[in-house]
Amino acid sequence: MNKVDSIIKGKIVLKDKVITGEVGITEGKIVSIHEESGNLDSDNIKDFGDSYVFPGTIDVHVHCFSNPDEGFVTTSTSAAAGGITTFLDMPYDLPNPINNIDQFKKKVEQLEEEAVVDICLWGTISKTGGTDQIIPLAEAGAVAFKMSTFETDEYRFPRIPDPEILKAMKLIEETGLRAAFHSENDEIIVDMIDQYQKDGKVYPKAHNETRPPVTETSAVLKLLEFAYWTNVKLHIVHVSHPRTIDMINLFQAQGVKVSCETCYPYLLMDVEDLDKYGPIAKNNPPLREKEEVRGLWNHIKEGNIDLVSSDHAPWGAEQKTKGNDNIFLASSGMPGVEIMTPLMFNSTVSNGKLSPIDFANLMSTHPAKVFSIPGKGQISIGYDADFTVIDPNQKTVIDQTSFKSHSKLSPFDGQELDCKVISTIVRGEEVFDGENVTKNPGYGKFIAGSAAK
Ligand SMILES: [Zn+2]
Repeated sequence: MNKVDSIIKGKIVLKDKVITGEVGITEGKIVSIHEESGNLDSDNIKDFGDSYVFPGTIDVHVHCFSNPDEGFVTTSTSAAAGGITTFLDMPYDLPNPINNIDQFKKKVEQLEEEAVVDICLWGTISKTGGTDQIIPLAEAGAVAFKMSTFETDEYRFPRIPDPEILKAMKLIEETGLRAAFHSENDEIIVDMIDQYQKDGKVYPKAHNETRPPVTETSAVLKLLEFAYWTNVKLHIVHVSHPRTIDMINLFQAQGVKVSCETCYPYLLMDVEDLDKYGPIAKNNPPLREKEEVRGLWNHIKEGNIDLVSSDHAPWGAEQKTKGNDNIFLASSGMPGVEIMTPLMFNSTVSNGKLSPIDFANLMSTHPAKVFSIPGKGQISIGYDADFTVIDPNQKTVIDQTSFKSHSKLSPFDGQELDCKVISTIVRGEEVFDGENVTKNPGYGKFIAGSAAK
């Protein structure tokens, strides 16, 4: 019998089949996979019985530092408790965005001291004159580049002008990494919000009305055409509308290398929830009409959406309640790393909408492939032993007060789910045992992007 460091047993979700078997792990890597027991020997065996052992969830869209009260410790602890083994942290940090090599290196150092799960880092560019940082950031290990066509903050989260986008795309194409965009039409939205505020229309649904679907689709259309001419690998983050996916499909058919994600709130809520929960359900782009949400689900079932992310935005009560009387004053976004995986399992595998293999693709395999994350995203020999273990026979009741994130406000509070994350394993070691986070900050590693030198 083969001696290994540890053995995981359960319903193992492989690329093309689910087996009741065992996985052997040595030095944090998967070294063997067997459809029956008895091939491996170890002093450390974890038998998860009828629970699914998935490749570890990878959340490509997380904002640790857009709120200084959050950070790597709280977000990555929260992620571990939510079954996430790797996440990609966005570059729009307060006070300084990650748009140069010095900021990037500082962030890597902090990550290595504070992370509980593995983390990749996004890079970005300044509003103008900053494209010279693209190659150095790629070589330092940035996983991809995030930019925006909408101005959230002139310095921290700027709208990048078209000539800078084109310059950036050409340089990013050279690195082989992906150029990702927050895609909303700034001019139309700013104009509509001005008008709404003047008219005193500041009720929760006004957030949806001032960001109509055309503000997303028209921004995406421009980027698709830019990608056609620069040949860059494009990624559209947080797609909220099915027509955006239709357009992506058209351009893919012409050879444009474009991937996309939606986020769990766009699949699990609709614009009525903005009315129901107010600022707590405010995100950008906004929640859409029921019929549009159905359209997104159809694209999920047809395999037209590569992956699902959380867009975890750790706002505290203070940033949300200020929008109680005027929705435009509330910060946008909601926490997600602790609840996305069980929520998505509950609304796909639990009800038969998706197979466990489709679920693994959306939550782990595709994120790793789209962003070329080395060693992650599948249960295959040679890959990192990262697993998300979900028991379909236990229940979870979402309790926002227990979130490990600074943000303890979720429209999903109180929901009962037909599943439970019972273990999160990163490089062969358990970081969450179903009740407690079992590793200290510093266990998580910086995972460098594919252009690192
Ligand atoms: Zn975001």
